[in-house]
Amino acid sequence: MKIIDYMERYGYEQLTFCSDPASGLRAMVAIHDTTLGPALGGARMFPYPDEEAAITDVLRLARAMTYKAAAAGLNLGGGKAVIWGDPAKDKSEALFRAFGRYLEALGGRYITTEDVGTTTRDMEWISAETAHVTGLPVPLGGSGDPSPATAMGVWRGMKACAAAVWGADSLKGRHVALMGLGKVGAALARHLHGDGARLTVADVNPAALKAAASLGASVVSPQDITSVECDIFAPCALGAVLNDDTIPRLKCRVVAGAANNQLAEERHGDALAQRGILYAPDYVLNGGGLINLSFEPEALKSTGVVTGYNAEAARAKVEGIYGTIERIIALAREGGIPTAQAADKLVEARLASARRVRRLYLE
Ligand code: NAD
Repeated sequence: MKIIDYMERYGYEQLTFCSDPASGLRAMVAIHDTTLGPALGGARMFPYPDEEAAITDVLRLARAMTYKAAAAGLNLGGGKAVIWGDPAKDKSEALFRAFGRYLEALGGRYITTEDVGTTTRDMEWISAETAHVTGLPVPLGGSGDPSPATAMGVWRGMKACAAAVWGADSLKGRHVALMGLGKVGAALARHLHGDGARLTVADVNPAALKAAASLGASVVSPQDITSVECDIFAPCALGAVLNDDTIPRLKCRVVAGAANNQLAEERHGDALAQRGILYAPDYVLNGGGLINLSFEPEALKSTGVVTGYNAEAARAKVEGIYGTIERIIALAREGGIPTAQAADKLVEARLASARRVRRLYLE
């Protein structure tokens, strides 16, 4: 992989490698774009097969964070970290504190939070070494697990999609095929069940499927979930699920889920539009957790928007994802372009206008 070429092509600012053999820490931090503010994004812990897989993941995820923050109207840039290790075996206080010291050295250009493989407990360890961490447990003044806010945003955005496709935003009686019944997927499933939607779910982890019974959900295998005949397909597991193999098999009118980087490649957004499937751009729909975090004090003070964690204000802004999805669908219809492109246009226009404003000298 030609890393610098790749960074130049997609506008990355920085990629940092962290090594601390004493604690076993092997990590990478990617900062994509800080036009709007400090880069914020989760620290993912995953046993990548090799270094290139970890680099590819951290770069892709960091860029998505720039788009997510900009689309959510936040004064934050995009960044991400990966900790190369097995969350089931390799976690320790020392490892996360070493990681925290690396973040401190970045001087606030990157603020971390939890992600797949990390928890609020890990953030607490990091916070012993740096203030550039969010998503702390509620008793420590943090906003806690972002997953309920993410699920709330996905649910609201899904309703905006329903309004655009079926003329009413009620999900009553709609059949939703949900892939991944984890922290976000399970919370989303509860909202949908409350609405009276019919659920079919799949998860690779049999323990996660225990929740299915109380939701009256049917269970299918992870291989079959993409071809279930349904109204809405909700990918809430890992990325690249919308690809050459799955798109021809989808039997839905809407794709709306929480997973990051759902499109294997950008062209798959066009492929969905060609099949007449309305795709809710992932980074817009799943921005609820990030919005919620932006209402957390301390580390985010530098953005100028935070006065203290306010759950009510955070919730109102998360609910605004409905309006953002409406605007994107309208832009796509006006321009005759796929929704994925419309979302990118909205974000790139905001970044360009912020760059223009920054030309003004301030002492
Ligand atoms: P999680 O790890 O709690 O849940 C993921 C679930 O997907 C797990 O139950 C896992 O067993 C299942 N899974 C993995 N591979 C699968 C497969 N091939 N088929 C079916 N199920 C599979 O993670 P989460 O926090 O719920 O996040 C889910 C997705 O949403 C991730 O892509 C994450 O990056 C994204 N996301 C999460 C948040 C958040 O606030 N947690 C915010 C934005 C985006």
